[in-house]
Amino acid sequence: MIPVTQPYLPCLKKYKRYIDSIYVSKMITNRGQYLVELENRLKEYLDVKHVICTSNGSLALQLIFKAFELSGSVITTPFSFAATSSTLSWEGLKPVYADIESKTLNISPSKIESNISNSVSAIVATHVYGNPCDLRKLSLLAKKHQLRLIYDAAHAFGVQKDGVSILAEGHASALSFHATKLFHTIEGGAVVTNDDDTAQSIRTLMNFGLTNQMASGLPGTNAKMNEFEAAMGLCVLDDIEIIFEKRMEIWERYVLSLGDYVSFQQWEESSDNNYSYAPIIFKSETELLCVQKTLSDMGVQGRRYFYPSLDTVYSSEEALSCNVSQDISRRIFCLPLYPTLTSSQQSIIINTILEALV
Ligand SMILES: *Cc1c(COP(=O)(O)O)cnc(C)c1O
Repeated sequence: MIPVTQPYLPCLKKYKRYIDSIYVSKMITNRGQYLVELENRLKEYLDVKHVICTSNGSLALQLIFKAFELSGSVITTPFSFAATSSTLSWEGLKPVYADIESKTLNISPSKIESNISNSVSAIVATHVYGNPCDLRKLSLLAKKHQLRLIYDAAHAFGVQKDGVSILAEGHASALSFHATKLFHTIEGGAVVTNDDDTAQSIRTLMNFGLTNQMASGLPGTNAKMNEFEAAMGLCVLDDIEIIFEKRMEIWERYVLSLGDYVSFQQWEESSDNNYSYAPIIFKSETELLCVQKTLSDMGVQGRRYFYPSLDTVYSSEEALSCNVSQDISRRIFCLPLYPTLTSSQQSIIINTILEALV
């Protein structure tokens, strides 16, 4: 059995030393020393002003929507994980879907512009599989129409464009540190922003809306990360360069072996790939289903990610127009990619796909 993903588990001895120390301090949550240490190290590593760790990436998104007091509708991408849309509905916001670009798989700036109306208060864009959105055009659009620009950066840990972190873009970004993500804290996430006031609002909202430990009437929630999770993050962060290297090796072999038979996402210029996922695009859904079945017979798991296109499930509009997203989501398939995938396992995957295709 070869799973589509496997969480990175750091040295157990090292993690146990952290747990021993947590047992001594008896500080297991509420902004303990490891959480503070993790936030400081991430701030430095990601080269951003504020990193506020949360209990997961979905709550990071939701906290951003609350902090900006969004209302009405929000323009977002139909090609993303369910959480990008479900967190909007949790805040009573109506998603308006702008279709994606067929090559980069990111939200199309021109489709955003044609969907802007008086009821729109923000743009929520996903850096799909870590590929940076058209940052310049999105920023211009947000300024021109006075909209909040929020990035779902769940896949974009460590990605830079022209040597600058893309996490500093827009008004705020949400990261996910779920076990299946490139960098993880078991469950977890973070809000990233360069704005001091936004950071302060997020910190208040994620802790019940308390100010000076007293109720303030703000609609706060509980989104704290605990010390066991923060300690896991510290251990995984120690190994992050090895994680990147292993993933890159695997990803490059997929491209080399399968490049003539399937297509790959087009990467944004002068940006690095963080090798979060290994999505391949088939010519048709029939081809995908045939390969998926053959792989599954060999005990290889893959994942139809993202499928289905979110406009088909979160929108009640009769005339759905996100044709590109709907088409891609029927043909895209993520292959196993994680540091412990062995070379012989990858050979099985590649050979099975080639046999099914030819
Ligand atoms: C994983 C993911 C999320 C949700 O993050 P959680 O930490 O699992 O809550 C949101 N958006 C995208 C694009 C994701 O991949």
